[in-house]
Amino acid sequence: VELAGLSTYSELQHFIQSHPDLLVLTGAGCSLASGIPTYRDRQGNWQRNNPIQHKEFVELHSRRQRYWARSYAGWPAVAAAKPNTTHMVMADWERKGLIRMLVTQNVDRLHQRAGQEKVIDLHGRLDQVICLDCDRISSRFEVQQRLAQLNPQLTTTGILAPDGDADVADSLVAQVVVPDCDRCGGLLKPNVVFFGDSVKRDTVNCIYQTLEQSAALLVVGSSLMVFSGFRFCRRAHELGKPMACINPGKTRADELFQLKIAADCSEVLDSLPG
Ligand SMILES: [Zn+2]
Repeated sequence: VELAGLSTYSELQHFIQSHPDLLVLTGAGCSLASGIPTYRDRQGNWQRNNPIQHKEFVELHSRRQRYWARSYAGWPAVAAAKPNTTHMVMADWERKGLIRMLVTQNVDRLHQRAGQEKVIDLHGRLDQVICLDCDRISSRFEVQQRLAQLNPQLTTTGILAPDGDADVADSLVAQVVVPDCDRCGGLLKPNVVFFGDSVKRDTVNCIYQTLEQSAALLVVGSSLMVFSGFRFCRRAHELGKPMACINPGKTRADELFQLKIAADCSEVLDSLPG
């Protein structure tokens, strides 16, 4: 990783100090140093097979078998992941009154575990499971136990992929018994926004309002390739809000940033003086 020069660090400090009421938008790059992989490489291309789509999860039993088998293997590593420098620095900036609101595209809850209080989980949270029929929320830990009871053949080893997904042999997938809602027998889904689904309108409007009140937008560790995050940069641009970004690769909003530090956010924030 090529690190930015000292002048860039002072530019970043200047940006933060001169706009001490930031809206921060974070993505997968923030959790990389915690051992959770990202979807895309530095050019913004998929690193792996495309992730599951909302429609196929809801419509196809075989896809739910596949999802839960892989998620069963991937969840323990996500649950065990610890916040890193980026999460700590963001929480520190919030305590210092520099951040009005943090919006994350991550579903790992590491910002909250670092002590960040004003967080919007744009794409939901992986530690919860929701029943699509009765809306009951249950704990992912509880569902993990039920998966284990129903499927003693499953293992929790596998190469971790983004969003708590992990590689599992196809031969295991076909035998998976998928747990149902224990209240109504309905369809259980992790409480996250899958690709092909959309973020609730109220959530988006709430963020737009917060953006209007904020001094500037700072993007940390996101390529903004997904529209649900990119739209906040577009809106910030429309509102004439200054924008800065720390992300090693290209992003969809590169031409909109006043300041772009093309490096890993944990390394940048680790080296930030004071
Ligand atoms: Zn239910």
